[in-house]
Amino acid sequence: MRALVWHGTEDIRCDTVPDPKIEDDRDAIIKVTACAICGSDLHLYDHFMPGMEKGDVMGHEFMGEIVETGKGINGVLKKGERIVVPFTIICGECDQCKRGFFSVCERSNRNKDIADKAFGHTTAGLFGYTHLTGGYQGGQAEYVRVPFADKTHIKVPENLTDEQVLFLGDIFPTGWQAAVQADIQPTDTVAIWGAGPVGQMTLRSALLLGAKQVVCIDSVPERLEMARAGGAITIDNSQESTVERLNELTGGKGPEKCIDAVGMEAHSPRALEHAYDRVKQAVMLESDRASVLREMIYVCRPAGILSIPGVYGGLIDKVPMGALMNKGLTVRTGQTHVNRWTDDLVKRIDDGQIDPSFVITHRAKLEQGPEMYKTFRDKKDNCIKVVLRP
Ligand SMILES: [Zn+2]
Ligand SMILES: [Zn+2]
Repeated sequence: MRALVWHGTEDIRCDTVPDPKIEDDRDAIIKVTACAICGSDLHLYDHFMPGMEKGDVMGHEFMGEIVETGKGINGVLKKGERIVVPFTIICGECDQCKRGFFSVCERSNRNKDIADKAFGHTTAGLFGYTHLTGGYQGGQAEYVRVPFADKTHIKVPENLTDEQVLFLGDIFPTGWQAAVQADIQPTDTVAIWGAGPVGQMTLRSALLLGAKQVVCIDSVPERLEMARAGGAITIDNSQESTVERLNELTGGKGPEKCIDAVGMEAHSPRALEHAYDRVKQAVMLESDRASVLREMIYVCRPAGILSIPGVYGGLIDKVPMGALMNKGLTVRTGQTHVNRWTDDLVKRIDDGQIDPSFVITHRAKLEQGPEMYKTFRDKKDNCIKVVLRP
């Protein structure tokens, strides 16, 4: 089959690789009908995230049709059935899965020992996303093996198109969880750093959950425009001070809720701070850049909540712990517990409350994947979200 394969920093190729096979009774094989490139794939492309190996198949946002099932699927999935696959692989039986904490499933990471060493405890296995999270082959391919497929799937109604439901596997529930864990109240101002695909889903989720006003911070004009189209007030942080504008918009009090939809490759608009983080990162004293986190802690209203869906991989430096503690801020983070939210979100799409396909700017064939990675990373051609068809 054809698949997008990681070969090294900024080196992803469309290769011919062996077709996946059923390896376990609970596996299913799907024929991919649509897949997407995610912002967190760029952390692998730029090689900020450790634990990739030559030959790894990329991709954790995908959907398709069941072509084969293991003996343990027991009729839960049928040949020809269409499913979206959540990026977090879940067993559905462990203590964490039973509590709905799916992204920290205790059984789906087959490289549990490495994760135990790196993080203290393992987290869930993820598709196409480093050997720290299981090294499972990803979905930017013609076919994918889905482990624990009797639980690791989202069923979608026939009347909805692939593009309407594809993002149920990651960015829509990721934006939703980011907003839910900010515990939004009708009087809240919610500030969101990053108007990329996750930021876009987050802002619409925050409005659906009843925020008074949502403010999006970015410097890319087309992303700010898409945020305004979704109902947000925008701040262009290359032109104006985020802190001053947020204080102005909240009568000097600061936003009650701050959401980091950027993560570890943050670019500080303050040149000196950015240079400091780049240097520390280059000499491995710091693996992730913290400019968004610092700004959120500084500007957030005391007793507020910081919600962090943005991906971090390792260490960060110069976190203003004094401000965080004295202001009494709550920090909520995590990879997304996808299946915890998707029944509700499928209904909201079906009801017409939201159509997540608004975010798609580029459609291409799988073979064009390598160039689309570059287009997306460089934000060329107004690129916000790429969908590939094998
Ligand atoms: Zn993703
Ligand atoms: Zn589990």
